[in-house]
Amino acid sequence: MNKRTVLITGAAGFLGSHLVDKALREGFRVIGVDNFITGTEENIKHLANEQEFIFIEHDVIEPLDLKEEIDYVFHFASPASPKDYYALPIETMRVGSEGTYNMLNLAKEKGATFMLASTSEVYGDPEVHPQPETYWGRVNPIGPRSVYDEAKRYAEAMTMAYKRLYNLDIRIVRIFNTYGPRMRLNDGRVLPNFITQALKGEPLTVYGDGSQTRSFCYVDDLIEGIWRLMMRVKYHEPVNIGNPEEVKIIDFAREILEITGSNSPIVFKPLPQDDPKRRRPDITKAKQLLNWEPKVPRKEGLRKTLHYFKDKLHLYE
Ligand code: NAD
Ligand code: UDP
Repeated sequence: MNKRTVLITGAAGFLGSHLVDKALREGFRVIGVDNFITGTEENIKHLANEQEFIFIEHDVIEPLDLKEEIDYVFHFASPASPKDYYALPIETMRVGSEGTYNMLNLAKEKGATFMLASTSEVYGDPEVHPQPETYWGRVNPIGPRSVYDEAKRYAEAMTMAYKRLYNLDIRIVRIFNTYGPRMRLNDGRVLPNFITQALKGEPLTVYGDGSQTRSFCYVDDLIEGIWRLMMRVKYHEPVNIGNPEEVKIIDFAREILEITGSNSPIVFKPLPQDDPKRRRPDITKAKQLLNWEPKVPRKEGLRKTLHYFKDKLHLYE
């Protein structure tokens, strides 16, 4: 029997590259697709001699014509950091809309199961806390974050339409803030900013007064949850995957100073428009459905991430 094949878009990105590694470990053939708009070859260079990995440089806003059989499509391509999607608003909307449409059609043509990487941003700046999947969200449709939030909401709607119309076997994972090795050091997200600032002895830039919260999930935990959702269940509605341990951004800055041993000061900068004030996943559904919950405590995850950042810092100087 031929090996089962997964196709992963965004394969040269932070999460996509970890998913490629997981699929290879699980014994699959992997086709990775990426146009490097926010990803890097560095994230997949360890696979150069891997027989079961094929890489295709391609922009998924264009249809992808493939001869191979495909069993699973993980659609992870999209700028994900606010700094990236502010700089790439049209590309972000197009990969969420046309890119999702193209990858849904590919899954339909191949009879593959399709997973959309969605996001906690579909909840916007939420009035419900923590956020369960049943919450419809509070998104500003014309604010600077809307290019990402609305593209993902559209992508979810399109994915559900393929389920309803064609009975495509779909999954929607709503990913909450995730961190770990292979994040771009300059992607502008809070953890890369704080760690690089701390390592360089520069001030840590807290936006607003730092009272806003996030809940950070270590990448290995996230990938395990995503894998179980794809492979273990036939569940066709969104599932939150993330770590429910919530922290104020100001306290997170202090934690980073502590683990890096840095003497950097903390400075306060303006809060970006529509920055969500509180974010924490309700993971009841993932627990019940997948028997999954995060295992890596933040201290341990941060130590592993710090190790990676120290190693790569010279590439960004
Ligand atoms: P990333 O920027 O590191 O990776 C995204 C990858 O997609 C990059 O390699 C980029 O080059 C590629 N890409 C973008 N547009 C493309 C296109 N048109 N054609 C082909 N490739 C394209 O971001 P990430 O953190 O790895 O996020 C991956 C996915 O997970 C995204 O869909 C994102 O919305 C979602 N997500 C991530 C987080 C998180 O905390 N990391 C949270 C919520 C959702
Ligand atoms: N943030 C910050 N300083 C930074 C970068 C981000 O205080 O240098 C804040 C940001 O305003 C937000 C939180 O940290 O409240 C998480 O931001 P990030 O860009 O990582 O992701 P988001 O969850 O907003 O998509």
